[in-house]
Amino acid sequence: MVGLKGNQSGIDGGVEMTSSTPISASMQRILKDSFGRVINNLRISVTDRCNFRCRYCMPEQGMTWLAKKELLTYEEITRLTRIFSSLGVKKLRLTGGEPLMRKDLHTLVGELASIGGIEDIALTTNGYFLAEQAVHLSRAGLRRINVSLDSLDAAVFNEVTRRDYYDRVWKGIEAAESAGVRPIKLNVVLLRGVNDREIAAFARLARTKPYIIRFIEFMPIGSDDGWSADQVVPTKEVIAAIEHEIGMRLVPVEMHGAQPADRYAAEDGLGEFGFISSVSEPFCDHCNRVRITSDGKLRACLFSLEETDLKALLRNGAGEDAIAEAIQKTVWGKQEGHLINQPGFIRPERTMSQIGG
Ligand code: SAM
Ligand code: SF4
Repeated sequence: MVGLKGNQSGIDGGVEMTSSTPISASMQRILKDSFGRVINNLRISVTDRCNFRCRYCMPEQGMTWLAKKELLTYEEITRLTRIFSSLGVKKLRLTGGEPLMRKDLHTLVGELASIGGIEDIALTTNGYFLAEQAVHLSRAGLRRINVSLDSLDAAVFNEVTRRDYYDRVWKGIEAAESAGVRPIKLNVVLLRGVNDREIAAFARLARTKPYIIRFIEFMPIGSDDGWSADQVVPTKEVIAAIEHEIGMRLVPVEMHGAQPADRYAAEDGLGEFGFISSVSEPFCDHCNRVRITSDGKLRACLFSLEETDLKALLRNGAGEDAIAEAIQKTVWGKQEGHLINQPGFIRPERTMSQIGG
């Protein structure tokens, strides 16, 4: 599906590699998989807990949370990030669960911002705690925020998130704006028949406020998210609806770039949109990211069925080189791509909130 050439032996950085030979950390300080993709982007989940119950992410009842001692401490996250940075990772995104449920997240942001080589720290949040934390986060070095906002109608917002927090989320978005965080991106997961009639309203918002609207296709993750292909609103349809609303074309700004979203702007420059088309147009061939779950498992792909237990290494006294080598080995084994909509697809057991979206 993604047309990459992988699992071949080759020379890289002067080091001979084969698919069965993980690179020695001391020999090569780069994260590259067997398909030639360079990984420079790390998503760190700081908690699996959440105060929302978005219907595409987790069931309404019955979620069980990790015990506190299972979570990586801020010290452990910082140590791991130093190792990732020494391997070429430059960009971090903190996520969850709801990352702002973790106490004093800004102290972690400050620690991470001081690591040499880390150029950019971003946060994905549901916005509930932003009003009180935006200034601290910004002062600590947070550069960019994505807030999930699936509807501009409070009743639909409640239906999707199963929580009555629409006004509070807006206060959070405005607080981040006042704190000078730029850009602010609003993440919208479109669900057929639920919020897809709001594409035009989001298009108008993007043209009147300094928010980048990112439409994310609904993905099948976890065993109980109610996913079916007919609920996915494909990017092509969203682009057509926006163009119809604003009466002009959207022009590509960045396609297949460093972020999962393809970026488009209105022809007159007023309003930017991002499209994450994981289902209709997978971007696996230029994927540059890996993830650490809040309990310290490294996942080379959102859809991985395998994980590497970095927490066990950390807590069993492993040195930097051993951890770096485990990371390189996991990245080397990164799968070519996910198989959503294909017969071989197997969903990960964990929900998006348990992995870190
Ligand atoms: N709680 C924070 C939030 O909602 O922004 C951060 C974690 S949440 C898991 C990260 C992102 O994943 C959100 O933008 C959410 O909309 C998205 N997401 C969750 N489940 C999804 C699914 N099944 N398909 C597509 N996106 C999903
Ligand atoms: Fe919570 Fe984010 Fe999942 Fe919604 S998408 S339930 S806010 S983790």
